[in-house]
Amino acid sequence: MSSLRSLPSIDQLLQTPVVISWITENGRPLTLEALRQTLDEVREEYRISKDVPPLDELLESAHNIIQSWASTSLQPVINATGVILHTNLGRAPLCHSAIKAIQNVSQGYSNLEYDLPAGKRGSRSVHAESFLTRLTHTEAALVVNNNAGAVLLILSALARRRSVIIARSQLIEIGGGFRIPDVMKQSGARLHEVGTTNRVHLSDFQTAIEDTSPALIFHAHRSNFRITGFTSEPTLSELAEVAHQAGIPLVDDQGSGALLDTVQFGLGHEPMVSEALLSGADLVCFSGDKLLGGPQAGIIIGKADLIAKLKKHPLARAIRADKLCLAALSATLIHYLKDEASVEIPIWRMISMSVDTIRQRAQSWVDTLGVGEVVESLSTVGGGSLPDEVLPTVVFALSAHSPNSILDRLRTFQPPIIARLEADKVIFDPRTIMPEQENVLLSSIRSILTNN
Ligand SMILES: *Cc1c(COP(=O)(O)O)cnc(C)c1O
Repeated sequence: MSSLRSLPSIDQLLQTPVVISWITENGRPLTLEALRQTLDEVREEYRISKDVPPLDELLESAHNIIQSWASTSLQPVINATGVILHTNLGRAPLCHSAIKAIQNVSQGYSNLEYDLPAGKRGSRSVHAESFLTRLTHTEAALVVNNNAGAVLLILSALARRRSVIIARSQLIEIGGGFRIPDVMKQSGARLHEVGTTNRVHLSDFQTAIEDTSPALIFHAHRSNFRITGFTSEPTLSELAEVAHQAGIPLVDDQGSGALLDTVQFGLGHEPMVSEALLSGADLVCFSGDKLLGGPQAGIIIGKADLIAKLKKHPLARAIRADKLCLAALSATLIHYLKDEASVEIPIWRMISMSVDTIRQRAQSWVDTLGVGEVVESLSTVGGGSLPDEVLPTVVFALSAHSPNSILDRLRTFQPPIIARLEADKVIFDPRTIMPEQENVLLSSIRSILTNN
């Protein structure tokens, strides 16, 4: 039992060689603050334990505190879940050219808002928007911070204090508390829902237009659920026709923003941006980091007069996209323009990865580690797209007495590994594991096996 008297003072600690090295590495203020906090904690614990930890233990706690303060908590992880657009794991990984573009424009100055030929102030909106209009054959485009922001901007700029017609079956909530009715309220638009939960008819929209002289018709993609059975809903083209007869726009919140047809990869059909435009939607909005496979962004495309109104609204400035986003988005879009998106953009590479390739990778892990087995399973696209749709996959599966504790251990590695359980086995889906992460993944698994 040592008493509080044996506790070294801050000044004494500052003289020790190891603490001097911390100061060199992390600076004096951080080091001092960590030592103070450690000593406070020791005094607090002393009241119960009547004991003071040895010096090396005390220094270790202080060092852990400094390390947690001086390193970013946002860090890369290995996604072994097989969920390609994992909302909790940062959605879409970026393609190489997008990463290079971010580095290019951020390590120095850029022409973000500078018109080079004219030598004067320019507009940030020119950078990604010309790619979008060329790619989608639309008149105009606008990029904002995310798609929730895009919806808020559209409703605020076009429908404030006016009614907006939407089918009851589309009053959706997507992850993270984004609910269409709440966003409507926030924008100042008056929600006018039509139809029932399962069925809505064109005549419902026609009656509502006569009754409320709305600002627009809003169509929202049911990104994360399906309704089946006794259901019916007008097509987007029918809605466009009714809207245009009334002289109001049709807005389609498409969410996932598919520029490629998912059917070619053996998945169900996810509505495509081009289809919404062909159907006559006047504005279409979607995320940059769902099926587009780019950075977080909200993309709005469509009629020039409507986009011009959005750009003028004060909210547009508040939710504008930053230069990192614009750089990464442009680089991603170029792959679509060059018709090489399915090989260059990570999410499409994962979606289109053949089961044979995946099986070979899983089998090679079994061979390398000498444990585990190859098991058939299912990957999902996730991220608010293709609900209920699965991709057959082959996973590396580990049996363990306590699979949950293995999952916990996996998350303590650098980088942390996020795996999942299936039939009491810990499974790793090669589909979402980057090839360059394989070595570190295998050595982490090996270290769990040897320390078990
Ligand atoms: C995902 C989604 C949103 C929100 O997009 P964020 O980019 O996450 O803000 C809005 N509407 C629909 C239909 C969606 O699927």
